Amino acid sequence: MSRSNQPKSPDASGSPQGPFPVPNATLPFWRTDLHELDDHRSTPELPQQCDVLIIGSGLSGAATAYHILDNNPSPPSIVILEARQACSGATGRNGGHVKPDLYYRVPQYARLYGKQAAADMAVFEMDHVQAVKDLVEKECIDCDFVLTRAYDVIIDPKLAETTKSEFDQLVAEGFPTTKDVWYAPAASAKALTGVKDAQCAFSFTVASLWPYKLVMHLLSLAVKRGANLQTHTPVTSVSETLDADGYWLVTTSRGLIKAKKIVFATNGYTAGLLPEFREKIIPVRGICSRIALPKGKEAPSLPFSYSVRHNAKGADYQITRPDGSIIVGGGRPAYWHKGNEWYNIYDDSQMIEPAVSYFDGLMQRTYRGWEDSGAAVDKVWTGILGYSNDLVPYAGAVPYKDGQFICAGFNGHGMPAILLTSKGIAKMVNEGCAFEETGVPWPFKATPSRLQNPSNAIIDMVVQAKL
Ligand SMILES: Cc1cc2nc3c(=O)[nH]c(=O)nc-3n(C[C@H](O)[C@H](O)[C@H](O)COP(=O)(O)OP(=O)(O)OC[C@H]3O[C@@H](n4cnc5c(N)ncnc54)[C@H](O)[C@@H]3O)c2cc1C
Repeated sequence: MSRSNQPKSPDASGSPQGPFPVPNATLPFWRTDLHELDDHRSTPELPQQCDVLIIGSGLSGAATAYHILDNNPSPPSIVILEARQACSGATGRNGGHVKPDLYYRVPQYARLYGKQAAADMAVFEMDHVQAVKDLVEKECIDCDFVLTRAYDVIIDPKLAETTKSEFDQLVAEGFPTTKDVWYAPAASAKALTGVKDAQCAFSFTVASLWPYKLVMHLLSLAVKRGANLQTHTPVTSVSETLDADGYWLVTTSRGLIKAKKIVFATNGYTAGLLPEFREKIIPVRGICSRIALPKGKEAPSLPFSYSVRHNAKGADYQITRPDGSIIVGGGRPAYWHKGNEWYNIYDDSQMIEPAVSYFDGLMQRTYRGWEDSGAAVDKVWTGILGYSNDLVPYAGAVPYKDGQFICAGFNGHGMPAILLTSKGIAKMVNEGCAFEETGVPWPFKATPSRLQNPSNAIIDMVVQAKL
């Protein structure tokens, strides 16, 4: 894929509008045990107005609502609008991996944003593991939370060599997050990880969880604290200017609602409502699976979580669940060269066909001891990620739109970035403070210059990987 032949059509229907969530999305494992608020509407009618309107009920929307209402003696009135069922976007269909990037992309961020910002972003991601753990413990959230180590295992000898040399450079320069990273060369990597073709491995602290259960718990707390949740209510447009009373006018499939402030927690779908984010947050379709053992059979021990990097095209990422089943996402070698399967695609009712069979036999071909396990795929699903054109999320005030905020564009990597970003957005909403007072790394700030930046890091990445 090159810049000249990247897919132009934004969706399967060829509509010039969008991206918008589509009906009949594929069924992820996480949504097989539904919460009572899944189809919830707090009131039969849409409220006519509110102080804060949050669009989107994934981790960004739910965590923003949670933080706005947490310990708030005079909370604003909040309405949360969700196009489909609660938490039916990327959060309800991801890999369940809270895996900070402590070293792998840090050199690239340092080249783009400078060493200090790269270090700050890595620390920010690292802090999420503890922040998520603290939240789960504080609110007693039943979401299969596991604190563990990840092994990033590299299969390609050349990639192993360059990654090790870049890692050594980070260590030499004193990047703080490298203190939690431990390097294993080929022989010990093979022995310790069980990955047959390991050339080396890096291990560090991560977490895994059931993302839908985490979010539904946060939404239920928000509803208990007064938020009005309206599922099955797609927003179709937002006025370009405030009305005479200082409200934004928001049009939905169920009528109009007026809001003083709006938080766009719409991730890959953001450009459907904020056209200035077209080509800045690009919907990208991803695929994930669950692999389970036959009833009564025990899984060979796989106590860590993993990324298996085949080459620069990407990695398969996986967690072991407390029930012994494995969630694996990735599969890029099967489809990344076919841009029309994933780039600028927001239809998660369809599979990525070339990748559907990719997960068959994955455990057997990857791990020693799994050859006769009988492990087999029991579910495959797709989901829409929001990739940003410059590799970092968009957070804070929407430029030139007083009272509008964004928390989106998490690049397939939201679990170690959203909780504290949404806390910062909540502070801006509640206190009217500046982005710089939120503790969110500065490259995340949604600025006019970022919106004018014509670069596209996704296409660059694909071109560099020679696909
Ligand atoms: C297959 C897959 C695997 C992934 N694996 C991982 C992983 O292991 N670790 C990790 O860190 N990240 C992973 N990600 C990325 C991660 O899921 C996201 O970064 C994160 O969930 C984003 O959360 P969010 O709340 O911002 O977006 P979402 O969860 O997508 O929520 C956005 C919500 O907004 C709603 N919405 C959008 N537009 C409108 C509208 N016009 N009107 C009303 N509602 C609207 C959507 O329906 C959706 O529910 C994965 C993603 C996918 C798809």
